[in-house]
Amino acid sequence: MSDNSHAAMCVYCGKAVIYDTRQVTDMEAAHRQIVEHDQQCPKNPLVKQVDTMEAAVYALFGYLSEQHPDAAADVVRVFAGTTWEQVSKRLDGLALVPREISAATGHKAGMIGDFNESVEVMCSECEQDDPDPDCGECGGEFFYQQDVPVSWTTIKAIHKRIVEIAEASE
Ligand SMILES: [Zn+2]
Ligand SMILES: [Zn+2]
Repeated sequence: MSDNSHAAMCVYCGKAVIYDTRQVTDMEAAHRQIVEHDQQCPKNPLVKQVDTMEAAVYALFGYLSEQHPDAAADVVRVFAGTTWEQVSKRLDGLALVPREISAATGHKAGMIGDFNESVEVMCSECEQDDPDPDCGECGGEFFYQQDVPVSWTTIKAIHKRIVEIAEASE
């Protein structure tokens, strides 16, 4: 090494790039080489961490593709052409839901009895012209409000429509 040369070194493995201190471009090139090496250096603990995380993501996605192909397709659709930063912004405040809910997805059992509607019904005991003020069913009103459960078919249709609108607005 002459007086005018210097070494840029990898802090992990000690790999050195000799450069001429009189040449700015030489120095820049040497630093660029060291940065590139750093991102792949087998002794860099971050490189190992990235490899491990990549392997974990691939394994997880492989499992998802096998067990829940629809969910895997959603992941591909949501992540396609986006960076991780964009993905996390998009997922903030959102939830991944199946396109269609069913007994198999656990929603039927989970939502049974959750939703009612109040409808006006006619008393089955009284005459409309002359309702009994002491009637146990209508209390003398003849028309009265009754809670009826929203049907599972309607709940499924509402969910499906929510997803359709969400996907159309993407
Ligand atoms: Zn190195
Ligand atoms: Zn009545």
